[in-house]
Amino acid sequence: MIRKFLGKVFSGQLFRPAQAKIIPLKVHRIARDRISRCAAKTCETLQQHSHAAYVVGGAVRDLLLGRDPKDYDVATDARPEQVRALFRRSRIIGRRFRLVHVMCGNETVEVSTFRGGSGGGADNAAGDQQTTDEHGRILRDNVFGSLEDDARRRDFTINAMFYDPVRQEVLDYHNGVPDLKARKLRMIGDPAQRYREDPIRMLRAVRLAAACGLEIEPHTRKPIRAMADLLHNVPTARVFDEMMKLLLSGHAAECVRRLRKEGLHHGLLPLLDVIFEQPLGERFVMKALENTDRRIKADKPVSPGFLFAALLWHEVLAGWKQAEGRGMHTMPALYHAMEQVLQVQAEKLAIPRRYGADMKDIWALQARLLNRSGRRPFHLVEHMRFRAGYDFLLLRCESGELDAEIGEWWEKFQHADEATRTGMLLGDSPGAGKKRRRRPRHRKKPAAASAVPE
Ligand code: ATP
Ligand code: MG
Repeated sequence: MIRKFLGKVFSGQLFRPAQAKIIPLKVHRIARDRISRCAAKTCETLQQHSHAAYVVGGAVRDLLLGRDPKDYDVATDARPEQVRALFRRSRIIGRRFRLVHVMCGNETVEVSTFRGGSGGGADNAAGDQQTTDEHGRILRDNVFGSLEDDARRRDFTINAMFYDPVRQEVLDYHNGVPDLKARKLRMIGDPAQRYREDPIRMLRAVRLAAACGLEIEPHTRKPIRAMADLLHNVPTARVFDEMMKLLLSGHAAECVRRLRKEGLHHGLLPLLDVIFEQPLGERFVMKALENTDRRIKADKPVSPGFLFAALLWHEVLAGWKQAEGRGMHTMPALYHAMEQVLQVQAEKLAIPRRYGADMKDIWALQARLLNRSGRRPFHLVEHMRFRAGYDFLLLRCESGELDAEIGEWWEKFQHADEATRTGMLLGDSPGAGKKRRRRPRHRKKPAAASAVPE
């Protein structure tokens, strides 16, 4: 009994630090049934075993905003092995910092042990275990800490609130609740230092501000422009992950607009700034992003390959035209441009290979869709990626790059019956003549063979 009580005292359940504001139910108004059952159950079980356990991070922020969180994180003073032992369906993941995934039905809650390490620019008691590179970027921060430490090492005040589903209280260490009310995104501690430790926080600031409709507080915003280049030192895979979050946030158009305003788009997609210099390119990219946002809001699937193909299309287009100008034929010129663009991207931003294949298919279809004579359109509508290629073509029409007529033609063709389709075919199109000339080669053999007996 006494041990249990002391356990609670040391875990911070009874002795909450003075600086945490405790927000009761009647103020925060998060109804218990709005919390995922899995997250609530996980906290309950941990607390029943004398551990502190809270829902934390983005989920609390979203609940306070009246939105449904897309996933739940739980923070606890229990070590990963202790958490693992309490939940039959759980597993320890991560090498750098070990977390536990607790599963209930088809839901997974990520449980992490309170972390120490840096934050808030304060002296770091565990400094010897934390390694930084020559720019101050944290390479390792795998130290456990207290509840207060854990709050301090989080990025923004609105991401550092802890919700206890048993007591139905929110603990707020850094004035996240008033900031959220005032729609302000504020960094915990010294913003410049926090960006230096982890430059990804600059991208997170933009994404969260755009997604939650917040203003980046002036001190938090100020260092971003000058520090944007630090993003080049971050491993490309991490930048890529953050980029995916941003593009699939349902607020991609707004995020990209804001990235540009903060001077951050250079670090993101190296060719994005070039695209924005061409008016048609910008319109095309924005249309593609708005389209993606609409799909996400309607819960429709979004293909990352399609999205990257769109972001880089005007680069491909420019290279394509240039190669044609040097005398290359349509398809080889397009392939040449595609390879060049993908190569530049591969160096800067690790677009996984599997997306590369989708992107190439979609781009190659853009040349083939221009051809509306002979049997080719019939074959094309059967192509595995026809739908994606066609949607992409519509974006080109919408942005003013192509005449709307061609989009309407394909819309009609794909739904028409055989006779109507045949009637729709156009006469010779530019690419058609070149191919036809090759045909005699196929006839050569039989012709030569039959010539002998006669
Ligand atoms: P989302 O809605 O995209 O999930 P989120 O804020 O929950 O937003 P996560 O990546 O799920 O983002 O991170 C969970 C929490 O971990 C954050 O709310 C924040 O407290 C903390 N966190 C995440 N990334 C960082 C970072 N780079 N630096 C400091 N704290 C971070
Ligand atoms: Mg989250």
